[in-house]
Amino acid sequence: MSRPTAHSSAHSAVRSRAASPRLAPGARRASTPLGLTASVRTLQPSATLLINELVAARQAAGRQTIHLGFGQAIFPLPPRLRAALAASATRTGYPPVLGYPELRAAIAGYLGRARGWDVAPERVGVGPGSKPLIYVALQALEGDLLLPVPSWVSYAPQAKLLGKRVIPVPTDATDHLGLSRAGLAGALARARHEGANPRILIVNTPSNPTGGMLAREDVVALADWARAESITLISDEIYAELAHGWRAHVSPAEHYPEGTLVTGSLSKPFSAGGWRLGYLVVPAGREGQRLLSAIRALASEIWSGVAGPIQAAGIEAYADDPELGAYLRQSARAHGQIAARLHAALVARGAFCARPAGAFYLYPDFAPWRQALAARGVHSSLDLARHLLEEWGIATLPGTEFGEQPGALRLRLATSLLCEPDGPASAEAREAALWALLRAADTAPGEAAELEPLSLPALDRAIARFGEFAASLGDPAAE
Ligand code: PLP
Repeated sequence: MSRPTAHSSAHSAVRSRAASPRLAPGARRASTPLGLTASVRTLQPSATLLINELVAARQAAGRQTIHLGFGQAIFPLPPRLRAALAASATRTGYPPVLGYPELRAAIAGYLGRARGWDVAPERVGVGPGSKPLIYVALQALEGDLLLPVPSWVSYAPQAKLLGKRVIPVPTDATDHLGLSRAGLAGALARARHEGANPRILIVNTPSNPTGGMLAREDVVALADWARAESITLISDEIYAELAHGWRAHVSPAEHYPEGTLVTGSLSKPFSAGGWRLGYLVVPAGREGQRLLSAIRALASEIWSGVAGPIQAAGIEAYADDPELGAYLRQSARAHGQIAARLHAALVARGAFCARPAGAFYLYPDFAPWRQALAARGVHSSLDLARHLLEEWGIATLPGTEFGEQPGALRLRLATSLLCEPDGPASAEAREAALWALLRAADTAPGEAAELEPLSLPALDRAIARFGEFAASLGDPAAE
């Protein structure tokens, strides 16, 4: 359906004026029955979901594609979770808005064991993924949003939908996430000067898109700064379980507990994005409870609760079970080894790329080939992502989706699908291959370079294709 032109809509307005009853004085007549609000008129579907659809269409048309565009973990589900879901089909009643008490207690217990935190279950709420929980947390909290660049694709659109201003905070290009005091102070001063009311900062470590993690001293400095400036931190810790092992995950909640909200999810550590189960932890005390009540009220008006069978499986996911601990460790190591191998290949070819510390992302910068790329009409990260998809069959996301300037030739590569085995005969064989990979990843010791190479055909293809692409551009040192 095409949009009405100014001419045609003016015509229909005249027609409807003649045909419909009189409006109350001062009331405005819509030019179409399906008029959109200003805030959604320019809103696009999330870039990650869009690229996934694009790749599916290419694959359906028989065009082979190396899919580095979608951060979806695909390891098999631990049997304990599978059994719990199967046994809970009769949980059909509306659940409590913030989750079953047993699930909130299980998450609190898990955070106690895994992180050493003393969390009362009353501080935990669950929702259909951490994405909507971050949205309602932003809705509940006053003020504008300070956002590190680069940051995950959905934070800025969420804040804008809520009428908040988004203030970019520069990060350290060598680590892509090092939030320096100077960068934070500069962003805050600029925002206040421009009349914004910055009160919230989202921090995501390990990071999507960079795979970087904040070092402890960065977290301490951030916490001190946030406390001094009375800024609320939303700490998106969806990848906390997927730290690769060479840098410890440190949460700002450990250093600024009174001002930090933490979110987490089943989606990444348990390869269960489609189950839609996330959680949020508010600070202890009256203020925290006031915030959680507001979030509960918002959730009660929007999604009501998370499906009962999924919550039942969630109780098992956060149970005290050494097998689950081993599963999470294996999955973190497997993701780490795959990311490390693609990272090593990119760096060897001449790309700038920070070493990944967690999650399943790389964020290479192709600036060393700026001239060679310009000669091919590639001037921006979007041009580069298009070029890679059309000419080389590699799907990525451009840095602009993460808040970067268009001229920064940075791309986000998701490595999570590179563990896909090649065409196994059956679903059972595919699952067996993925379990074998998890076990193998667990026994491989030490640094990425020393690893016993696992058989990963999709990863090998990605490395080979990037190699051909880099070779086609020539020697970056010659530029
Ligand atoms: N935060 C980050 C950084 C993510 O990468 C994602 C998903 O890709 C989410 C939050 C949302 O995850 P979910 O809603 O599945 O919990």
